[in-house]
Amino acid sequence: MDICHVAAEYAPLIKVGGLADVTFGLSRQLLDFGHKVEVILPYYATLNHSIIKDLHIQYANFYYHRLWQGTVEGVLITLIEPLNHDYFKRKHVYGEKDDVIRFATFSLIAHYYLKEKSLPPLVHLHDWHTALVAFLNQNHYATIYTIHNLAYMGQSDASLWKELKIPIENVVSLQVEDHYNLMKAGILYADHVTAVSPTYAQEIVYTTMGGILQNLLYEQKEKITGILNGIDKDFWNPENDPFLPYHFTVDNRENKKRLKDYVKKRFHLDAKNNFMACSIARLVPQKGPELIIEAIKEVLAQGGIFIVIGSSADPEIEKQLLDIKTTSQNKKSLHIEFIYDEELSHIIFGASDLFVMPSLYEPCGLTQLIALRYGTLPLVRETGGLKDTIFHGKNGFTFKEMDPQELKDTLRLAFTVWQNPTKWQEMVQKGMKEDHSWEKSAREYLILYEKLLSLSRN
Ligand code: ADP
Repeated sequence: MDICHVAAEYAPLIKVGGLADVTFGLSRQLLDFGHKVEVILPYYATLNHSIIKDLHIQYANFYYHRLWQGTVEGVLITLIEPLNHDYFKRKHVYGEKDDVIRFATFSLIAHYYLKEKSLPPLVHLHDWHTALVAFLNQNHYATIYTIHNLAYMGQSDASLWKELKIPIENVVSLQVEDHYNLMKAGILYADHVTAVSPTYAQEIVYTTMGGILQNLLYEQKEKITGILNGIDKDFWNPENDPFLPYHFTVDNRENKKRLKDYVKKRFHLDAKNNFMACSIARLVPQKGPELIIEAIKEVLAQGGIFIVIGSSADPEIEKQLLDIKTTSQNKKSLHIEFIYDEELSHIIFGASDLFVMPSLYEPCGLTQLIALRYGTLPLVRETGGLKDTIFHGKNGFTFKEMDPQELKDTLRLAFTVWQNPTKWQEMVQKGMKEDHSWEKSAREYLILYEKLLSLSRN
């Protein structure tokens, strides 16, 4: 089968969060199954070009864009570079004032490119950045649209259509309240819609978590399903992870202790006991930063160590975290870095005992799966994909409400279990043995792809 992903991120070329891991892991698995895979991305100035093989210009001027092609580990990469705009020559992938026009233009060119192909591929679109492709497509190819995070919708006023030279009367269906909504384009016009976990799919269709798109999601429920994300089993492998100074396996975890010692030494950490908890996340409201702060206080009160590796934190959250550091009696038990650091994240996943993830909502969540694979038990709130993957007392610890007391009680319980090494190690071993590789999920996508292709042929 010929499968083409259109996305804003693809690890390790360009990564902000889990979206990059998903497009990468799924593509690699589909390739392993023997399919042809192409990924269309914007040509960001910050892209890690060095890993692209045979990068060359495919079209010098394609609707005022330059199209580049090359391969990354067997996956064909097509990069779209605007000739008349600096849309992707920015420091950050997202967060620019003109995000909607940047990605809508990208989608438009991706659509023209897909339309030109003589043998249309199955087109897999990811999040609002590429949703417009589903709207522009008029049965040229079959489309599947994946919602990775409904909170980011791509909303704009009418000026967008002027810029794209699309008559305003053609886009009436994309209006939501007093805006045009690109997420709506994906949900309404794709042949099938997936969310990245079964629970999140239910939450957005049947609860207020559907937000301003709740009615639309409910109307479209017949074509919305949930498929859990996987993690790339080679990239996330404590047995040979190149970022780890010491390696370990499910049957020999001795080196996990050496990793912990390494981290304590590297960051000059010390505590009453050897319990090490961590949070590695974008520190945005979704990740429950105020509960992470409560967790830090509780772990320090129990005499353990806490490490935070947080990106995209807003200044208020940063301040609150730094305040704990300055006011704490146990300064040497807390290490906080506001950074996006791939290497460090792998090391901390490997060294810790407990991974704290008290999300307000979580479409799937990959970090709890990574933590499991690195022998670090997750402590999570029961929402979205966290509910589908972490089971209290079996492979981690869970709590229900966004309630500091519930979190603290659950942390205390985790700490008590940690003091019983036999029980703790039993849970660690169980978690490490679980298979969260892409194999199962990619097969579910393949079934869908085949169904959509056969429908589009008839
Ligand atoms: P989201 O996509 O909402 O950010 P996920 O759990 O799905 O959350 O995926 C997050 C991905 O980003 C994981 O691969 C995680 O390791 C990585 N990540 C998050 N924050 C950091 C950070 N500060 N430094 C390095 N990697 C990070």
